[in-house]
Amino acid sequence: MLRTHTCGELRISDIGKKVTLCGWVQGIRDLGHLIFIDLRDRYGITQIRITPSDQPELANYVKEISREFVIQVEGTVRERESKNSKNPTGEIEIFPGTIRILNSSKTPPFTIETETDGGEELRMKFRYLDLRRPPLQKNILLRHKTALETRKYLDSLGFLEIETPFLIKSTPEGARDFLVPSRLNPGTFYALPQSPQTFKQLLMVSGFDRYFQIVRCFRDEDLRADRQPEFTQIDCEMSFVQQEDVLQTFEGLVKHLFKNLLGKELPVFKRLSYAEAMEKYGTDKPDLRFGMPIVNLTSIVKNKDFKIFNEAEYVGGIVVEGGATYTRKQIDELTEFIKRPQIGGAGMVWVRFPSGEDPKSSVDKFYSKEDLMAWKNHTSAPDHSLLLIISGPKEKSLKVLSELRLEVGQRMGLRKADEFACLWITDFPLLEWNEADPNLPDSYRGRWVARHHPFTSPKNEDIPLLDTDPGKVRANAYDMVINGVEVGGGSIRIHDRNLQKKMFSVLGFSEEEAERQFGFLMNAFEYGAPPHGGIAFGFDRLCSLMGGQHSIRDFIAFPKNNAGRDLMIDSPSEVSEEQLKELNISLNLK
Ligand code: ASP
Repeated sequence: MLRTHTCGELRISDIGKKVTLCGWVQGIRDLGHLIFIDLRDRYGITQIRITPSDQPELANYVKEISREFVIQVEGTVRERESKNSKNPTGEIEIFPGTIRILNSSKTPPFTIETETDGGEELRMKFRYLDLRRPPLQKNILLRHKTALETRKYLDSLGFLEIETPFLIKSTPEGARDFLVPSRLNPGTFYALPQSPQTFKQLLMVSGFDRYFQIVRCFRDEDLRADRQPEFTQIDCEMSFVQQEDVLQTFEGLVKHLFKNLLGKELPVFKRLSYAEAMEKYGTDKPDLRFGMPIVNLTSIVKNKDFKIFNEAEYVGGIVVEGGATYTRKQIDELTEFIKRPQIGGAGMVWVRFPSGEDPKSSVDKFYSKEDLMAWKNHTSAPDHSLLLIISGPKEKSLKVLSELRLEVGQRMGLRKADEFACLWITDFPLLEWNEADPNLPDSYRGRWVARHHPFTSPKNEDIPLLDTDPGKVRANAYDMVINGVEVGGGSIRIHDRNLQKKMFSVLGFSEEEAERQFGFLMNAFEYGAPPHGGIAFGFDRLCSLMGGQHSIRDFIAFPKNNAGRDLMIDSPSEVSEEQLKELNISLNLK
């Protein structure tokens, strides 16, 4: 090896040792009578100290060196005069005997330090340099450890990691497929998997009993912020289980990860049904780091002279504790917030409940003190609080209230990065009516689509509703939510051919279509398919959450930008005529 130690490991106990280090030059400080080099590798930074008066040749040689040169330093570990307690190697420095340049470097386009001066685009283009920075190195390390601990935990429970193919068949599953033309079979295409869903179910039919895979998935979606066209899942499936078994097993996984990677003991996860979550938080992924549930006020605000409430399908509010002191300006800011086009609120009514004084509201003209006190009672608003009220169509109002709740929670500092509120959402609707989802092909418009995917089983007692009121059917489906982020989701699957066939028919597939696309799965169900269920976690997202950050991009070594492009290798890119011809593809770009 070209080194005896890394740049992060030498301590005061190593004083006197002869060592050889290799690394990148983070910086050089030439003070005239002394020259310091900070040498960096992924383990840390070690200081090299040269005294020009004693080592004129060496001092001369290092004049050629600048930032990001790769050098090898042979020398002796000495105690530092002025120690740096912030750096684990800060008590020592190296007195070099020889220094060798292993490779030179151009001046990097941005500083390779914890805080960099490089803009997003530049850093994406030079991703390999951005990845040298300590915060990214830390993220990638956390990702590695998360994968490792996941494997350990699942292995200890008898799960087998089994690979499934990347070149598969295009099937509708929730988003658009990426297609790969087949040269050997002209006019036909493979699709890249949106998930290994059908394969993992087939592995259950094969008797593998417990499967997992840390696996890349591909979805050709319109890109929203922080979505990647290729991303990684921890994909899992188990046989002979009911929903409760799956929840216990994977609550255990997340607890294991938090304990072993962050030293955090998570309490038992809360559980909320989808219906409850929507009613109380206006979303199926509530952030439960704080309370502030939505209270339905519809029945008690009607029949006064306030037309807006009288005509509203729904009126609901949230109570901001201590909010009685909010100024008009602060309240106006919140009103502006809900009126943003992405949120779409029309307006907001507020009531202050100062302690020892009469309530004060934006609707004083229409409601008496007694009315407002009745609202206070109904919402259990304490003294000194502020009630914020939204009205309108129910679904929309709940969405606005949900956003408002998050915004207020954010402003009050209730969404702390190092606190984790984990829960399960259960009893999702099986189906949803699709009018215009930009992520689904047009052929899906105006029909029922599976909310999760077509293989999710309906609750037994709801099966008859499939014929009469499909929208009411609840699924054996569950999501894991942490801090308002959906980190995983899964279901107990259909394992009966007839029920699966029925499901496809509800989804508007003709028998032939269902047979053509999913015949292989339905056939397999005729050869002893065990009851089974599973889950998949968004691995990138789980890592970013554990790292206390929002963006998944910084937890992926080579991500794509918001337009789905890799700026470093410049992809997607055009290909040659010859390649296209071999694939029998002709481009007709207008
Ligand atoms: N395949 C599903 C997904 O990707 C997860 C599951 O049901 O296990 O969302």
